[in-house]
Amino acid sequence: MMQERNKKAFDAADHYLSRDNHFFSFSSKHPPALTVSPGEIIHVQTWDCYKGAITNAENAILAIPDGEINPATGPIFVSGAEPGDTLIVKILDIQPGPRGVARTYPGSGQLSHLVEKPYARFFDVKDGLVTMNEKVSFPSSPMLGVIGVAPETEEIGTIPAGRHGGNLDNNMNGIGSTIYLPVKHPGALLSMGDMHASMGDGEICGTGIEIAGDVLIQVDLLKAKGTDYPVTETASSWITHGVANEDIARAMQIACEEAAGLLVTQWGFTIEDAFIFLSVQGNLGVAQAVHPSTGTVIAKMTVPKIAACPKPFNIG
Ligand code: CA
Ligand code: ZN
Repeated sequence: MMQERNKKAFDAADHYLSRDNHFFSFSSKHPPALTVSPGEIIHVQTWDCYKGAITNAENAILAIPDGEINPATGPIFVSGAEPGDTLIVKILDIQPGPRGVARTYPGSGQLSHLVEKPYARFFDVKDGLVTMNEKVSFPSSPMLGVIGVAPETEEIGTIPAGRHGGNLDNNMNGIGSTIYLPVKHPGALLSMGDMHASMGDGEICGTGIEIAGDVLIQVDLLKAKGTDYPVTETASSWITHGVANEDIARAMQIACEEAAGLLVTQWGFTIEDAFIFLSVQGNLGVAQAVHPSTGTVIAKMTVPKIAACPKPFNIG
């Protein structure tokens, strides 16, 4: 159950968007489900990545077709957003539901060769605590696996990640974080889903704790400024992303280039000093790289917020 304090904040939102409004792709062709103004607060309800299909021991290892995974609630049209802008999405709160599931399946994940058949484990989530079994419990750290805007050209499904965001699977996209998304179409057309009650770097078995829930966001715009890929800002750092198809080395290079680009264009670093600063203070890591599998992998470069680079963008 949502705590009273959190419930009040959700009830006070300017808009509510139910999960009945969802697509399995990001596209400028999807009609907006909601139109909002910069500064407004939106309560977004999300499905779990299986759209509620996994509920009990009998259906827990059910194969779900790719086209029915990761329903993303949206799209939300943000008035005034134009190509070349950056959409700012502040995650004010994430409230996962009471029960989630993680699954393994053959051919997906670093340890898949060690397990013989599909397997699922349900988790209870209550008062900020996740319970896996009698022995294992830990604090929840809710996050959004999927968040993005309409991509520049073609329609992109909700399983891959890309410049538009999508299935970024960055576990830093949680409560209190701000996500900066490059706008390619009027209104940006923001959608989100694939909530996890918890997910580690890499998401090695192919899932986090997949769970439905409620998200409270505030949207804003950064005019005529942006990056190639989304950027996440937390209380202590900012994090760039790189995405590549089955090529984590390439994804890592892009994440580094994105971070260096911001240090140079926004904070006046030379490329040499950006290179060295990122080596001595930046943390290069993996957001998601489920191997073996097919599809995109996502790297992240975490840059500490210090006086010389206190935000991703130098916006005063
Ligand atoms: Ca995901
Ligand atoms: Zn997921």
